[in-house]
Amino acid sequence: MTVLCSPSRVWLVLSPMNFVNDRLFARQLDQADPLRTYREQFHMPQRNGQPLIYFCGNSLGLQPKATRAAIDQELAVWQQLAVEGWFERDPVLQNDPWLTIHERSKAALAHIVGGTEAEVCAMNNLTVNMHLLLTSFYRPTEGRTQILTISGDFPSDQYALETHVRARGLDPKQVLVEVAPRPDAVTWQLTDLLDAIDQHADQLALVLLSGVHYYTGQAFDMAAIARKAQAHNILVGFDLAHAVGNVPLNLHEWGVDFAFWCTYKYLNSGPGGLSGVFVHEKHHDAASDTSNVPRLAGWWGYDQTRRFEMTGGFVPMRGADGWQVSTPTVLSMAAHNTAVQLTAAAGMPNLRRKSEQLTAYLQFLLTDLTQQGLLTIITPADPAQRGCQLSLLVAQRGRAVFEQLTKAGIIGDWREPDCIRLAPTPLYNTFDEVWQVADTLRRLLTAG
Ligand SMILES: *Cc1c(COP(=O)(O)O)cnc(C)c1O
Repeated sequence: MTVLCSPSRVWLVLSPMNFVNDRLFARQLDQADPLRTYREQFHMPQRNGQPLIYFCGNSLGLQPKATRAAIDQELAVWQQLAVEGWFERDPVLQNDPWLTIHERSKAALAHIVGGTEAEVCAMNNLTVNMHLLLTSFYRPTEGRTQILTISGDFPSDQYALETHVRARGLDPKQVLVEVAPRPDAVTWQLTDLLDAIDQHADQLALVLLSGVHYYTGQAFDMAAIARKAQAHNILVGFDLAHAVGNVPLNLHEWGVDFAFWCTYKYLNSGPGGLSGVFVHEKHHDAASDTSNVPRLAGWWGYDQTRRFEMTGGFVPMRGADGWQVSTPTVLSMAAHNTAVQLTAAAGMPNLRRKSEQLTAYLQFLLTDLTQQGLLTIITPADPAQRGCQLSLLVAQRGRAVFEQLTKAGIIGDWREPDCIRLAPTPLYNTFDEVWQVADTLRRLLTAG
């Protein structure tokens, strides 16, 4: 192979046009990767003592090495201080009281989603938070009852939307406006979404969809969708499960009204790890009066300075914190905070830059297989319309190919009916792994 130039220069001049299908080239990209040390901060999964290639961060992110110590620290606080752990600081343990544990991740979350610290809070799990926020922000009026979404969104989101429509005494068939891909297409056209908002503008109470679609890996232009909704005074929310820690987010500037996400995918908080919510500042004044903005209130959302007076009459904390309901799960929070701080330390702009390269390299290496019709990449080729993940449809024996891939030590995931999802993540995956995955796929698809 030709050495283009010194490693740092390789990174700078790299564009898909300069990619080379060569393992040494891939390794050179790794040497030039300014984020390469982050991989060492994760436990890489193994099978029979052999490291696996893990391209499944879209489903469950890996364990940061710092997580165990963070949980151990809270276990030590519980062991020694017990209930005093909520309020006391021990000079030897150097603990932060649990009472304000939800504040420890605010700076990182604000960076990751592009919000202010008052606009974000970690709490509960994703679908629970979706219900909490729909209670507040789906407020149908006589004329405006509809919710615009996409067809085939994640099942939990569909169930949650239907539940809220029924709870308001309305019929999901009449109220849910689902924008579908065009005939013979699997991904959506932005113009179709924007046109649908225009068409239904007078009946829409809410626009709500995933920021990145779980199956196709398509990333939507959230800024454009929010702008269009706002032009018609329609509230807009996003499910960021596959977007957070994956694609650039600027929720505050975009004027998104609310959003929610899980942190066990690209943010590595551990299986079933905490969710987070975003509530735009523009709602904070109104939401201080629960007769303006309804919510499913609980004592942990009550004004923190007076919570333990234990009086009636709900007085919410200001901002996203007011949507908290229950006592925070401290051990999960410890894992969550460690993980989101790791992502924030790497920095979303850096992660995104590497991610675009990793995914473009995978796409490049699969070119001959797609040209031969052996597989189809259904994820948009435009980097602006995708994150890490590529969703592959294998022409024949899809499920068998996926199982052989797993046997060869490559962990992706299978989504019914016929899709292999591969997500090279910029925090802990390498260009060399991308090369190995493509090489293995080539051998599997061209064998026999
Ligand atoms: C992963 C995912 C969920 C999962 O919801 P939980 O409440 O965390 O189980 C929901 N919606 C989308 C779009 C997802 O990708």
